[in-house]
Amino acid sequence: MPSQTSTQPVPITRAADLRQSATELGKSLSKKATITFPSDARWEALLVRGSYPRLSPDYSLVIEVGTESDVQTIVTYATKYGIPFLAVSGAHGWTDTLNRLPYGIQINMRKLNTTTLDKGGKTATIGGGALQWEVTRALFAKGKQAVTGLAECVSVIGPLLGGGHSLLQGQFGYALDNLVSARVVLSDGTVVEASASKNSDLFWALRGAGHNFGIVTSFVVNAYDIKTDWTVYSLIFTQDKLEALFALINKHEDGSISRPAELALTGVFVRIPPIDAKQPVIAYTVAYQGNQAAAAPYAARFQALGPAATTVTANVNYVQLYTVTGNNLDSAACIENHNLLGSGVSLPAWDPVGTRAGFSIFADATADPRFNSSIVLLENYGMKGIRAVDPATTALAPDERTNPILTSPIFWWEGDNEQASKDAHAYAARIKDAFYKGVDKAKGKRHTYVNYAIGNEGLEELYGYEKWRLEKLKAAKRKWDAGNGFKFYAPIV
Ligand SMILES: Cc1cc2nc3c(=O)[nH]c(=O)nc-3n(C[C@H](O)[C@H](O)[C@H](O)COP(=O)(O)OP(=O)(O)OC[C@H]3O[C@@H](n4cnc5c(N)ncnc54)[C@H](O)[C@@H]3O)c2cc1C
Repeated sequence: MPSQTSTQPVPITRAADLRQSATELGKSLSKKATITFPSDARWEALLVRGSYPRLSPDYSLVIEVGTESDVQTIVTYATKYGIPFLAVSGAHGWTDTLNRLPYGIQINMRKLNTTTLDKGGKTATIGGGALQWEVTRALFAKGKQAVTGLAECVSVIGPLLGGGHSLLQGQFGYALDNLVSARVVLSDGTVVEASASKNSDLFWALRGAGHNFGIVTSFVVNAYDIKTDWTVYSLIFTQDKLEALFALINKHEDGSISRPAELALTGVFVRIPPIDAKQPVIAYTVAYQGNQAAAAPYAARFQALGPAATTVTANVNYVQLYTVTGNNLDSAACIENHNLLGSGVSLPAWDPVGTRAGFSIFADATADPRFNSSIVLLENYGMKGIRAVDPATTALAPDERTNPILTSPIFWWEGDNEQASKDAHAYAARIKDAFYKGVDKAKGKRHTYVNYAIGNEGLEELYGYEKWRLEKLKAAKRKWDAGNGFKFYAPIV
């Protein structure tokens, strides 16, 4: 009797064997696809990441796909021979788990970058590798906008699969709340459509835990008419205003003062020596979708605290918003190939003691010249549109719909320096503990946004504490990715 293994494909477990066999694989790909090996001139360019070399998934080769069927061919091949693979779109994922790719194929999605406004103008179809600047500009040219995030260089699908925080979320919910359907290549290479009416369990799981189920080759989202421009107030507060400022921000969330859906609040701890040579400051943004007369009363609340500097920019359109808020392709947020480390914290309210403690740790960290350009994100973008959605209808953790605050230290440093990475991790952990002080004191449960995870969070912290939810998620995983091909980003298994 022939042994069972004699009919099974022999797994390819070494990078060198994979490279050798890739020529054969290349014959099945479209003419638009390109295979690049480490010896090729373009190799380094394809390793470029928002955080590099800290994050260096150990690719053996890179395939830039040109069609959906290229993705199917590669995934089928990889699964057949047990080869690890990782899709890359914006290359701005920051979780440590991306480093677990031991060898294998980078499936580069960037050529699938089209944006088409659908007939009727109510939805748009977007390529699985499109970046935010491509999508916002294509839709803006037609007077439309979709719920995209806050940095031009990041993809649209990466944030969406885990949530998708946006300056538009107060009005329209998270990016994932606006997903109408997605075409997904599964780990067996088949392509399926997921929507409310087709494969609805996959559609549920994609919206919140989506990096675990397949490669999205294209997807349809709601498109909205752009009715007005924005007014943006950029205020800088010295650190003595910290307690008053965060108390005021809390009032916007606890219902004690009005908070229209068009008002987005965000800011950073940052060092700006001309304002304060010794301490970091709080650079705070009050952004309102409306004219300056409508925005002024909301900004006045913050101006009353006495900022050290104020800049007002009126008549800002959705494309310009990325520049005015410091998130366009040329901004510090989008610089690639230097190390970035983020570690998200989601909060029900700013705790005064914890916030001050987090600030002090940040002040110490940025007194170190290696980290002096680092920041802490302070996002209160608005929750109205998000809370309008029943938490049970998506895989997104319910705390992501109740907690109005998303914060994270963002450490930046140069070079391939293990000690700097260790130190940045240690500072980030201390800031995280400080910010969670209020939650811990109230014996609450910690929650971290999937896309801001550092990589050491538990399943419940990322995906929610309800038993039924985790069971449903695991059941979906067993059904749609039984072999666990998708395991390098906020993994369920
Ligand atoms: C500068 C910066 C700004 C950010 N701004 C925001 C923001 O405003 N709102 C917000 O919510 N988050 C934001 N984030 C976090 C962001 O959501 C994540 O970093 C996200 O993973 C980035 O996606 P990417 O495609 O750019 O990165 P990648 O590293 O290319 O991808 C991240 C993960 O998504 C997977 N993936 C990529 N493409 C596909 C696909 N087509 N189908 C299936 N899986 C895919 C990858 O395999 C990987 O696991 C920001 C991050 C940075 C660094």
